[in-house]
Amino acid sequence: MTDNHVHIGQFCETWYEPLEVLGIVTEAGITDVVYSSTTSGKDEVRYKEIEHEIREVTAEYPPDKMEPFFWYIPPYIDEGITIENAFQNLPYGGIKLHPRCHRWNLQDRKHLDCLHTLFGSAQDSGVPILIHTGEDDFEKPAFFEQFIAEYRDVRCILAHCRPVLETIAMFRTYKNVYGDTAFLPEANLQKIIQAGFGERLFLGTDFPITHYFTRGNTETNEPAITLEQQYKKDTAVLQKYEIILAGSTERN
Ligand SMILES: [Zn+2]
Repeated sequence: MTDNHVHIGQFCETWYEPLEVLGIVTEAGITDVVYSSTTSGKDEVRYKEIEHEIREVTAEYPPDKMEPFFWYIPPYIDEGITIENAFQNLPYGGIKLHPRCHRWNLQDRKHLDCLHTLFGSAQDSGVPILIHTGEDDFEKPAFFEQFIAEYRDVRCILAHCRPVLETIAMFRTYKNVYGDTAFLPEANLQKIIQAGFGERLFLGTDFPITHYFTRGNTETNEPAITLEQQYKKDTAVLQKYEIILAGSTERN
């Protein structure tokens, strides 16, 4: 079974040790993983740290089974960190964009040029782009629409499918738009299936961010359960959704 949405590294004040996370995922019987480093969302990101984390994982696991995605952030533009160099140095299998962690400014020429380069090289090399989505204007499913429309051969995966109706509208307009089930409520999964787009979904958990959000209601602010326990819950949802999706495509 595949988990198409896993993270390693720093998330807010919590450090999720890369090999520990992927060890837990492997133990749970997941054989194929797509992951990226949330260290990319830190205030002062140093790409060297991320390279180090990913190298640690690729030394342990073959990258065709544990596939890293290159999380590109706008500050890299001025630092001269390019997609070309990154893909030369590490066996990346895709690109991740997170317009909530780092805002993309579509009025800024540098940002626009950079996005054209990213989408263009994804088109040339056939790698997908995983895009975070959410309720705010700067992260809505249609935020990168001009690029999705121009680069029709790029598989664009809208993580979380949020908001769901706008995601469905994007599925309807563009054949190259997909979604993932990370933090996707079952009611929204059903809406996507009913609209006829169940086959556009990739199964993913967002582990260990799921674990991060189990904290908050205790005095110590400690997570309520262990990482292993959380991933058991996450994979139970994954399996349930897999069965629902399999059933829905049989009917069609
Ligand atoms: Zn995520």
